[in-house]
Amino acid sequence: MTKIELKNIVKEYQEGVRAVDNFSIKADAGDFVVLVGPSGCGKSTVLRMIAGLEDITSGEIYFGEQLVNNLEPQQRNIGMVFQNYALYPHLSVFENLAFPLKIIKTNKKDIESRVKQISSITGLGELLHRKPKQLSGGQRQRVALARALIRQPAIFLFDEPLSNLDAKLRIQMRSDILDLHKTAGTTSVYVTHDQTEAMTMGTKIAVVDKGKLQQYGKPDEIYSKPQNLFVAGFLGSPQMNFIPLDLAEGELKNSFLSIPLSDLSLNQNAGISGSNLTGGIRPEHLNADVDSGIFRAEISRIEYLGHEQYIHCKINNTGICVRDNSPGKYTPGDNIGINFDFKNMHLFDNTSLRIN
Ligand code: ADP
Repeated sequence: MTKIELKNIVKEYQEGVRAVDNFSIKADAGDFVVLVGPSGCGKSTVLRMIAGLEDITSGEIYFGEQLVNNLEPQQRNIGMVFQNYALYPHLSVFENLAFPLKIIKTNKKDIESRVKQISSITGLGELLHRKPKQLSGGQRQRVALARALIRQPAIFLFDEPLSNLDAKLRIQMRSDILDLHKTAGTTSVYVTHDQTEAMTMGTKIAVVDKGKLQQYGKPDEIYSKPQNLFVAGFLGSPQMNFIPLDLAEGELKNSFLSIPLSDLSLNQNAGISGSNLTGGIRPEHLNADVDSGIFRAEISRIEYLGHEQYIHCKINNTGICVRDNSPGKYTPGDNIGINFDFKNMHLFDNTSLRIN
């Protein structure tokens, strides 16, 4: 197993325009690191630089202790899986799987035994004689995975591998990939724009925006302590509610709230000052009540999901979403009370950085 370190990686496609800006992360051996962020934020570029498919403007990439900046892709011992499966259409599944081994001149007997082994792990045993066009999307992606695994690479790179699959298959493939990762233990870097995929798959998540690393850590750390408003809003669905607040006379205030600073879980008060602060509270930390509430709001819409529902309200131009477990209890137009524990509120300063 190989650890990966990216040190101050920069990519400029045009001089002065940075697609990736001073990007640094460390993946321990066996980690499954997910790079997540909106389309165009630079995550595929980072992956392609790790693979050696893209030159690095500046910075260093290490596999273990080895600097790999100047190694060709084929010298890096990586397996890669893309969104488009890139299988050879005229070759059978067997031949597609055998291909990477043929290139490195593996003997026929070893190829057969390795294909047999890998196809059984990936559930392709029955399909070895078929051509890619005779397979479903999920099966094709499985072949692409198996083909990347077959050389037993030191590092596995995934670029949005599940985007072409339907929702049910995506969930299935997520767990298949994690099972394979558990078995092989190969250090992996996985790119997606889907925050659910990031949360459910990553041992660590790197949240990226506009070419810059916003936060790097375990999913639960990032979810419970987002370091800035971008991360707070990006992870979690429905997203965290943002409430504008100003500090005055020891209280955080707006037209419908008034929270004594002493009621917040703050490590330091020193950094808090002035106006244009943002309180962040997740829908699961808000409770709807018929009668009493810290503040009241009118229901504009209810998103019914069966096992729970999301109540969308509006108060003085601020949208608030509440997770609720009593379908049928409320209807749009109702005026409800909303309660929450102040200790669950995240607080961000006027530059969008976390305060508490
Ligand atoms: P993501 O994978 O997050 O969607 P990319 O890494 O593909 O984002 O792209 C990051 C930025 O770099 C985007 O603004 C994109 O337009 C730009 N970019 C990507 N590839 C090239 C290229 N070959 N030439 C110029 N700009 C590029």
